[in-house]
Amino acid sequence: MRIAREAEPPIESLVAADRIAGRCAELGREITRDYSGKDLILVGVLKGSVMFLSDLMRHIDLPLTVDYLRVSSYGDRTESGGVVRFELDLSQPVRGKHVLIVEDIVDTGLTVHYLLNNLATREPASLKVCTLLDKPSRRQKDVPIDYRGFQVPDTFVVGYGLDYQGRYRNLPYIGRVPAS
Ligand code: 5GP
Repeated sequence: MRIAREAEPPIESLVAADRIAGRCAELGREITRDYSGKDLILVGVLKGSVMFLSDLMRHIDLPLTVDYLRVSSYGDRTESGGVVRFELDLSQPVRGKHVLIVEDIVDTGLTVHYLLNNLATREPASLKVCTLLDKPSRRQKDVPIDYRGFQVPDTFVVGYGLDYQGRYRNLPYIGRVPAS
């Protein structure tokens, strides 16, 4: 499916909406099975994970809570040493709880690496990562990914929560911005 929006170039689809929906259902079932009987907190990484998180959690048939954080990166993130910093922290302590970080995409791995190190100091009962997209070709930090939606090639993707200069987050599928 391609959606041409007024005054925007058409976005080529890489992962269609129905495939995303199917994968959310599968991941939700896995998470439901793995966290049965555990005190689960889903931690959404703003802003990109919002659409994924909201679809995913509908398929997790467990009592759970949801919290959010936002980080930003400084410096040249194409080189190791890019600095990640909290812009918005969790609203509650996670000590003794089972934390599942929900990300839109793991690219260099710097963000998830930072989050795992930071959240581990707060002594959760467990700490895992669920990402909609994995772009392994650009990895700089070898981070564990416990739940993965789709692997994508080394291209800049948008849609389903992911933006390009703040736009395209509302596309119902994952696409690629045509080179201008
Ligand atoms: P990392 O720290 O793993 O390099 O990148 C994580 C963040 O970079 C993601 O949460 C996302 O905000 C952004 N990012 C990385 N690759 C892409 C991409 O292909 N498209 C978009 N829209 N954002 C990306």
